[in-house]
Amino acid sequence: MVKIGVLALQGDVREHLAALVHSGVEAATVRRPAELDAVDGLVIPGGESTTIDKLTRIFELADPLKERIAAGMPVYGSCAGMIMLANEIADPATDRQGNPQQTLGGLDITVRRNAFGRQRESFETDLAFRGLEFSAAVPGTEPEPVHAVFIRAPWVERLGEGVEVLAQVLPEEASHTGTLHGTARIVAVRSRHLLATSFHPEVTGERRIHELFIRIVRGEA
Ligand code: GLN
Repeated sequence: MVKIGVLALQGDVREHLAALVHSGVEAATVRRPAELDAVDGLVIPGGESTTIDKLTRIFELADPLKERIAAGMPVYGSCAGMIMLANEIADPATDRQGNPQQTLGGLDITVRRNAFGRQRESFETDLAFRGLEFSAAVPGTEPEPVHAVFIRAPWVERLGEGVEVLAQVLPEEASHTGTLHGTARIVAVRSRHLLATSFHPEVTGERRIHELFIRIVRGEA
């Protein structure tokens, strides 16, 4: 059985563990390099990317994580996790010394933090999501849309080579945020072994994004 870790430094760790266990894999928290060595794939949860960044360095996980990502370990990043996987942040936060926040990188995208607005602009919508064909009730038909919850969510502003768009928010779906200016925004991407969503499937009982990730870990997708 594959074993999937959840980076457990900050954020909604428990919800991801539950989603993974429900989807039929062994799941474990990862706080130490030895725990990272023991997993076949990793979820980086939503939370606060500046805090996760600092803690990965304090816990001496940043370099081991970068090495595993470069070696092909599958990783799924949700919201702050998407930011941690991005090669570039359009608007990084800076600490008191003026040092910009860092990411682990690996996924050749540029993200913009809090792009849909602050907490008050958090919203939910249904999205068409590529790659979930396995979940269609009748093979060959469209799978059900994904109910997506966006909480101070980033969006993807630049796609590098080989990065595939899995889902976008259309302007009418987030019109209340006033931030889309008529442009569809990319909120889910995949590049080989790396998967990222701006939203939080782990809080709604949606299991198919975790199932897709498990397929990637198993080499089936
Ligand atoms: N805005 C947060 C950040 O920059 C992400 C929010 C979330 O994960 N729900 O890290």
